[in-house]
Amino acid sequence: MRLARPLETLIDELMKLPSVGPKTAQRMALYILKASEADAKRLARAVIDAKEKIAPCSNCGYLTDTDPCLLCIDEKRDSSILCVAEEASDIIAIEKAGFNGRYFVINQAFKLMDDNELDRVTLEKFKTKLAAGGIREVILALNPDIDGEVVSRYLSRIAGQYNIKTTRLAHGLPVGGDIEYADEITLRRAIEGRHEF
Ligand SMILES: [Zn+2]
Repeated sequence: MRLARPLETLIDELMKLPSVGPKTAQRMALYILKASEADAKRLARAVIDAKEKIAPCSNCGYLTDTDPCLLCIDEKRDSSILCVAEEASDIIAIEKAGFNGRYFVINQAFKLMDDNELDRVTLEKFKTKLAAGGIREVILALNPDIDGEVVSRYLSRIAGQYNIKTTRLAHGLPVGGDIEYADEITLRRAIEGRHEF
């Protein structure tokens, strides 16, 4: 049976979301159709709003609608510890685990890159931050997979050039796993038990 074109389009779009298969997409689409017009419009507007108003913070890379972001302007945070993460979604997990330092988000998919392939702009930003002084520790909170390992080593070498100690999260995080999905307690233990690189 063919579905009405607009319904089909909605299902197709929903299916592009992570973890949404055809059945779930269909259920969501039918739910949206049944919802009140106001609710459906609110959902559509939320998507557009988030897309239009949110961008990486120019200072740390976290997703924000103000620049610099709320984390960067928070004076109660410890500026002497800089936590490097792969993606903004990792920051959400690390925040929940109670970290209270500063962040640097790479926001770049890296695949077994060698030293020269890490985005120049990102790299320059990282170096500028270290050169500005005041940082005594860089925590490398990259995913415990082989790409995270390669980039961690590289960033650790750079931090070494500025005589800044680098630490990495303690083991206990599943190898090949995503920090984003690590549970709070595991992540908090990994931060507390971090050791020198
Ligand atoms: Zn920021």
